[in-house]
Amino acid sequence: MPDARQRVLILGGGFAGVGATKELRKADVDVVLVDRHDYHTFQPLLYQLATGLLETTAVGHSLRDLVKDQDNATVHQAPVTRIDVDAKEVSFEGLDPIAYDYLVLALGAQVTFFGTEGAAEHAFPMYTLADAVRLKNHLLDRWEAADKDGGLVDDGALTVVVVGGGPTGVETAGAVAELYRNNFDRDYPDLPQEKARVVLVEAGDEIFAMFKPNLREYAKDALEQRTVEVVTGARVQSVAPTRVTLASGEVIPAHTLVWGAGLQGNALVGSLGIELQRGNRIAVGPDLELQGYPGVFVVGDVAAITDSKTEQVLPQLGSVALQSGEHAGDTIARRVAGKKEKPFKYRDKGTMAAIGRHAAVVQMLGGKTMKGHKAQFAWRTVHLALLPTNEDRAKAIVDWAGSELTHQRVGRIHVETDEDN
Ligand SMILES: Cc1cc2nc3c(=O)[nH]c(=O)nc-3n(C[C@H](O)[C@H](O)[C@H](O)COP(=O)(O)OP(=O)(O)OC[C@H]3O[C@@H](n4cnc5c(N)ncnc54)[C@H](O)[C@@H]3O)c2cc1C
Repeated sequence: MPDARQRVLILGGGFAGVGATKELRKADVDVVLVDRHDYHTFQPLLYQLATGLLETTAVGHSLRDLVKDQDNATVHQAPVTRIDVDAKEVSFEGLDPIAYDYLVLALGAQVTFFGTEGAAEHAFPMYTLADAVRLKNHLLDRWEAADKDGGLVDDGALTVVVVGGGPTGVETAGAVAELYRNNFDRDYPDLPQEKARVVLVEAGDEIFAMFKPNLREYAKDALEQRTVEVVTGARVQSVAPTRVTLASGEVIPAHTLVWGAGLQGNALVGSLGIELQRGNRIAVGPDLELQGYPGVFVVGDVAAITDSKTEQVLPQLGSVALQSGEHAGDTIARRVAGKKEKPFKYRDKGTMAAIGRHAAVVQMLGGKTMKGHKAQFAWRTVHLALLPTNEDRAKAIVDWAGSELTHQRVGRIHVETDEDN
């Protein structure tokens, strides 16, 4: 007798895809999770990996390990190449096509450089685990190079320009400044710290536009205390390996430009033949299903989900991705079991960002705000809850506690790969 179990195909092993997979653990279905990587990436901590505070395994977790106790789930590592929602089949590179009964589209977003000249070739985006490792290695490489040839310092070898005054840019700029002033000052005592600039460039009038004015001011002060130069109302026009040119014509000698400015939905959604929302995202209703395609759920960063409470499109956040993924999994489990389904309701945990040691901001849905130590505690609590396992939480707590006491960044080593040699 043929296997009557229905197949749920989950594309993407980020917060949304893993949330959906775990929610289906007791459902009478076969769950197939496919990601181009064999690991889940915890993006909120990428900047801590890039600045040596955390190690790779605290930010990336094996997908096979995450589902090892889930008997109805299997994992494949393969890039998705085509999604055919009419034929209910997905094609991959190096893996046979997989047909599905239910599809959970959780492919996340990707960086966009808005056509900035030279950015695709020379900028360091902060989106993937590989991006964070590449940035860390590059920073270490520049300091080692300047240690051997002091002339490189005036050429901008140690200067970092960070683009984007949102959480990714602010967190990265704050962390790089702390790495420079608290670690590299002792690691490289002969190199002049004052010539190792960290410049945050934001096109709008202020950084942290999504936060209330008191938090924006606090964040700017906190960055400046950490010696970050905050430049607002400025746009990066072009990027070259050692020079960053602003639209004003100003040229900043800098060997590193970190791009934390723009995201858009995964490019694969363009081939679905459906109308897309701003930023290449797919609009879904309260059931998170793709209109006209029952059984196809779109969740996480790639979805434009309108909050039932505020009527606003929810931001691209880990908690939105996790909750929407879990909701899709729960809905499929209910449908398969013939149970009543529920509409998606987002539980807002607040908008938050860390600026550095003991400096963070939190804004709750009702408008209440927090900053400093208290906000850092709240930031850590929420982000620990998002980490996929207790082991990851324990690892992060130990590394954070170590750095609290000693400013230590144990991960500041450059492991050469074949590509480096
Ligand atoms: C630097 C940074 C910092 C952030 N900080 C915070 C924060 O502090 N708090 C917060 O709540 N949110 C934060 N976010 C946002 C949060 O990380 C995202 O909202 C969340 O990761 C989205 O989850 P997702 O599952 O939709 O997508 P992702 O986590 O991006 O997962 C998508 C998955 O799809 C896979 N994939 C993509 N394309 C293909 C393909 N063609 N084939 C196969 N697999 C593919 C990817 O490998 C990936 O594993 C941050 C994001 C960034 C980039």
